[in-house]
Amino acid sequence: MGLDKAVLYIVATPIGNLADMVPRAVEVLQCADLVAAEDTRHSQRLFSHFSIDTPLVAYHDHSDDQRTDKILERLSQGQTVALISDAGTPLISDPGYRLVREARARGFTVVPIPGPCAFVAALSAAGLPSDRFTFEGFLPAKPLAREKALQALSRETRTMVFYEAPHRVLDTLEAMRQCFGDTREVVIARELSKAFETIHLLPLADMVEWVRADSNQQRGEIVLLVRGAEEVKSAELDAESERVMKLLLAELPPKRAAAIAAEITGVNKKLLYNWSLEQK
Ligand code: SAM
Repeated sequence: MGLDKAVLYIVATPIGNLADMVPRAVEVLQCADLVAAEDTRHSQRLFSHFSIDTPLVAYHDHSDDQRTDKILERLSQGQTVALISDAGTPLISDPGYRLVREARARGFTVVPIPGPCAFVAALSAAGLPSDRFTFEGFLPAKPLAREKALQALSRETRTMVFYEAPHRVLDTLEAMRQCFGDTREVVIARELSKAFETIHLLPLADMVEWVRADSNQQRGEIVLLVRGAEEVKSAELDAESERVMKLLLAELPPKRAAAIAAEITGVNKKLLYNWSLEQK
């Protein structure tokens, strides 16, 4: 395979099962002049398996500018560079953003070689709505910051996808239960493409108990997916109810205003109350 000169290839690698390596990824890694890797020792195993002997250099997003410049320098000499991470697609909760940004800014072509990605695999098999979703990556590790991040998502209607470390999964599920409620559906997708692959859907309260009771569920690599909140239908009022509510809201708190307006107009109290919240 002939590679174009002065191109930065972003190459996805397996998330567990080496048979998931796509042929084009092997060819690019074999033919590139240099491979930048998150952890060169880790990538050596992949290289041996696929008989790749291209030189490896370390790259992570806090690599100093000199390291980034050296990689860009190789591109400007007309060489082909490939970027890989320890597993899956680079830049997805993995290093590479700075390098890609700089390479593009300097006019180099950046070519993705698509392949495995844990959250895409999890979403494709979870059984939660996948037409619209939000990928949140890792939540903050500290409880308060995690709670704040979850609170910010409390009204999110799209399926939410998180990466989580095994030693934190139980605490995170409990924090999710407190934020999203007992009955909200959650999926744990664990050890995808590996021997102990598990994909399990339960309401949050049951999931907390299931994971607590089986310490195996607190091992390995984990994606959590939470069903989005029910869409709150925008409340629409007829002109008379709206006039009554506006008058009452000038004097009373929303709950009281809604109760009195319901008596006057015969309109559902909850609808009136929801309408008042939307006016803020
Ligand atoms: N770049 C990777 C990707 O494309 O998915 C993600 C790298 S991130 C540093 C590592 C996290 O991805 C793990 O902590 C876990 O949450 C998730 N992950 C990676 N491999 C996985 C697997 N085989 N099964 C489940 N989750 C996995």
